Amino acid sequence: MAVSVSVLASGSRGNCAVVHTARTKVLVDAGVSCRETIKRLRTLGEDPSSLTAIVITHEHSDHVYGLATLAKRLRIPIFMTGPTYQAWARSMRDENGMPAALERREPFQAGRCFQIGDIAVMPFTIPHDAADPVGFTFKAEGVKVGFATDLGYVPASVRDHLSRCDVLIMESNHDLEMLRGGPYPWSVKQRVMSRVGHLSNDALADFFRNDYDGGAAYVVLAHLSEQNNHPELARGAAEAALGPRRTLLHNRVILASQVEPMEPIRL
Ligand SMILES: [Zn+2]
Ligand SMILES: [Zn+2]
Repeated sequence: MAVSVSVLASGSRGNCAVVHTARTKVLVDAGVSCRETIKRLRTLGEDPSSLTAIVITHEHSDHVYGLATLAKRLRIPIFMTGPTYQAWARSMRDENGMPAALERREPFQAGRCFQIGDIAVMPFTIPHDAADPVGFTFKAEGVKVGFATDLGYVPASVRDHLSRCDVLIMESNHDLEMLRGGPYPWSVKQRVMSRVGHLSNDALADFFRNDYDGGAAYVVLAHLSEQNNHPELARGAAEAALGPRRTLLHNRVILASQVEPMEPIRL
């Protein structure tokens, strides 16, 4: 095995994924509880104490809910941008009411590549209503994994970063009709649909049709809304957009789940 990828949890109740090589194991976001993260890692046969580091996309609670406890327990480096860290620390208070602190925070900046063990990590800015939100690509052993959830649209810079990926993990948040007719207050609907909200099934399909190079072995649909989407609507939109580029070796579509870890992709 060269590189393995699994989404442990995906959706508005918590996001967490793991990317690893034989030597390095990186957790992407910590949006479910420490206990649940450890349970799901064990379900996949992964030893939580073998994690090398955690990288964080942004400070929304569905991406950091378990972070403080996981950091304390695992004592591994936590990679966050400065503004994301400050926003997180402001919202988290310790038992004395003081802003929370991470023992081992490693700062990074969008657009600047850094190394965790044998994995090259490239963070890039995404359009989302958080302090300093990023997506990532991870490169190791000639394999490139792209990761972009929580984005209102797909700007040219994001398209460039996501080119030539072998695994592409992308947001397919909502069906526009379901969101419009659904139970959310209008202000929330507007936020989700805005340029700094979340990517709809149709917006992702547009990306696949017009801007995607078609080269990934696997395409993972992530961050699906439980209220405003159905897995089969997301899958249908993506598969139609990928069209004949879906073959035995390319563009196999997988849905990430909120409730259970995904069978790992190994490349
Ligand atoms: Zn978010
Ligand atoms: Zn989110």
